[in-house]
Amino acid sequence: MATTVITDALVIVSTDQRGRVETSDAIAIDGNRIVAIGDAARAMVDLPDTDLIDGTGHTILPGVGDGHAHPIFAGLELLGPEIRSGRTPEAIATSVKQFADANPDLEWIVGGSYDSSIIPGGLFDATWLDSIDRPVVLNAWDYHTVWVNSEALRRAGVTSETPEPELGRIVRRPDGTPMGTLQEYGAIDLVKAVMPADDSERLALALKRASDHFIELGVTWVQDAWVDPQHVDGYLEAAAKGFIRNRFNLALRAEPTAWRPQVEAFPLDRERIRSANHPLLTCNTVKFFADGVVENHTAAMIDPYTDRVEQDDRGIANWTQEELTAAAIEFDRLGFQLHIHAIGDMGNRLALNAFEEVERVNGPRDRRGVIAHVQILEPSDLGRFAQLGVIANFEPYWAQMDPLMTELTLPRIGHRSAHQYRIVDVIESGAYVTFGSDWPVTTPDWRSGLEVGVTRETTDGVPVGGWEPSQRVSPAQGVWAYTAAMAHQAFADDSGTLKPGSVADFIELSANPLEIEPHKLPSVRVIATWVDGKRYG
Ligand SMILES: [Zn+2]
Repeated sequence: MATTVITDALVIVSTDQRGRVETSDAIAIDGNRIVAIGDAARAMVDLPDTDLIDGTGHTILPGVGDGHAHPIFAGLELLGPEIRSGRTPEAIATSVKQFADANPDLEWIVGGSYDSSIIPGGLFDATWLDSIDRPVVLNAWDYHTVWVNSEALRRAGVTSETPEPELGRIVRRPDGTPMGTLQEYGAIDLVKAVMPADDSERLALALKRASDHFIELGVTWVQDAWVDPQHVDGYLEAAAKGFIRNRFNLALRAEPTAWRPQVEAFPLDRERIRSANHPLLTCNTVKFFADGVVENHTAAMIDPYTDRVEQDDRGIANWTQEELTAAAIEFDRLGFQLHIHAIGDMGNRLALNAFEEVERVNGPRDRRGVIAHVQILEPSDLGRFAQLGVIANFEPYWAQMDPLMTELTLPRIGHRSAHQYRIVDVIESGAYVTFGSDWPVTTPDWRSGLEVGVTRETTDGVPVGGWEPSQRVSPAQGVWAYTAAMAHQAFADDSGTLKPGSVADFIELSANPLEIEPHKLPSVRVIATWVDGKRYG
């Protein structure tokens, strides 16, 4: 196979958690491997059969990983109407109508995700979407709320007579008729039950859109943190059609009420992915939701929410400690990596306790468990990540004083604001820290994530000097969390750095992200993305 040598580039060979950086000026690739860097790579230029690429001063960075994302949901959004930028209900309805007119064969119009804060209380009316001649279902950004039109309510049989579901809320007008906003799954499922399910062809198309977008951004490895059984078919279909361009590791979602049969089923799903023998797909992980989110008062807290002390509201743990631990032990015994969503300080403690018990009961093993989000950590729990070898996956874009933080988070948690996103403290404790996007909840663009992680300011520069500035990572630490640390999370020890023998996953950038003024990071262009030795650009 021909060797490719890229010269005259700044090659960022590796970064580490202390912010140390190793660089070179040339890199040689043969097949899907890096075979040499620096002088040794330049020496290969004169060999027969060598392709030479002039790097023209670009920066070469190890491929970026996204340690927690939802590519299926994101891809389905991209297949639907564009409503994310809509600042008024009319603008959203116009976009939905145009999309419906352009897609006359779709029986239902499904889209996401709208910003519920554009209307006070987030209460949207079905009639605003009634100019569309078919049922419409739109997801809010939090994926815990939908806005539907009257035809969707009619098909679901939701009327003034419908009783309130147990785990959800049908928002009603004063006369008792359903308004068109459904909150939480108990209510949302009333409509979902009558919607046609997405078949594997559509799921495969969604994955194609997501994968194409990751490649544009320079993201080479993605942890899909929510895979249901039918999604596995979507991945297999996408793989068969050649739609998969970046690496995906699938996390099968364990449910508190169904995990025992899932202990039987998940190894079969893992085997289906394994036997497809696709070089970019793995299914090594099981996902748990320990709790919900602060904005809905569903994150599990040690002490009551500041605005609900009288009700003694401490949020909702989705699992008891006993059940979470029992399930974690069983899935660990099957060799799965565990990936636990935890937002509240009690959610994080439940997850850490489960990992501690897994280690005690099943014995030591290289398990690389992950807690995702790690929003609020009780200070006495901070050192446990390093002790237990648990990876803390943060979404750095969330560590900013945006309206979500100032209006929906701080009033609910009071002094615990300072316990949020202790990224530097966790790194300094000796634990692995990885970064992620939670796309489509927030942008999949790692350049914006790095910008916020480094500044702890909004993209407009607020507050000046950063919120909790001691927790600002250096650019090199941030890149480490997106690359070498991510390789650890991915069990891909031959990636994340650009050393001879590493897999050829890397990106060509127009500027050096370690040197550029942090607020200019989003302007760094991704010129090409290499995955497994293939160049897309
Ligand atoms: Zn998520």
